[in-house]
Amino acid sequence: MSRAINSSVIKRLYGLSAGRCNICKALLLEESVHIGEMAHIIANSSNGTRGDISNTNDNSYNNLILLCPNDHARVDQDPFNFTVERLHQIKNEHESFIANATDFNILTDKKRSSDVLFLNSYFRFTPFERTRYLVDTLPNSFHIHFLSFGDMFDAILLDLPASYPLNDLHLQGKFNNFILAYHSIYECLQEQIPTFNDMRIEVFLGANANGYCHFNYKGLPYDVANEKENVLINRKFIFLQAFDDLLQYIRTYYQEVEMSSNYF
Ligand SMILES: [Zn+2]
Repeated sequence: MSRAINSSVIKRLYGLSAGRCNICKALLLEESVHIGEMAHIIANSSNGTRGDISNTNDNSYNNLILLCPNDHARVDQDPFNFTVERLHQIKNEHESFIANATDFNILTDKKRSSDVLFLNSYFRFTPFERTRYLVDTLPNSFHIHFLSFGDMFDAILLDLPASYPLNDLHLQGKFNNFILAYHSIYECLQEQIPTFNDMRIEVFLGANANGYCHFNYKGLPYDVANEKENVLINRKFIFLQAFDDLLQYIRTYYQEVEMSSNYF
């Protein structure tokens, strides 16, 4: 069985997590009893959750994450969603948030306010909450409001040039992934295929009365259509992953941000 966890590792883990569950943020040190659990990221035995034969008895700081009992159980019951990589990411983001929040630097508040201003401006003019619905029908069609994700980003860069890139590096990484993934889809949506007689065939047709632009199945050669469909399916998947990742991060760390748009 496992060795006891070294007291310096415990201090480091509780200190950098500010004594809070890395997932739900519950304080684990109340009323003199502590309910924190130091969960293994790679399990202690080869048949435990996320077990690895090469990694037995690893009670190092790197292999532990501070959780409440509920989240510990959840994590161990669901190794498919809580992979080793994901747990490292959760821990890293939590500890960064704590480090930023306790950085006694007068600029910290200003930096956060600037990020919040950027997010509020962006979400006010984009149907961010309906992202999934706008691209759900790809590759067959997409809703024209999808294009506001790129248009509003460009507009805010002009309006608030000092607010981007964002100060929170995790937030910036996630937002950047979202915008890059958006652009990789956008590229396909506005693409025109050149033909032998110098004509060009649009991959997507103009919006119909309901705001949907449809894939040009009739106009495109079968093999081209097939290839474009496959590219779009792949890029839609990457885009939705980037969206989920960004959404989850904002819901966890930027609860003051208003995500529902007034304009759509
Ligand atoms: Zn928890």
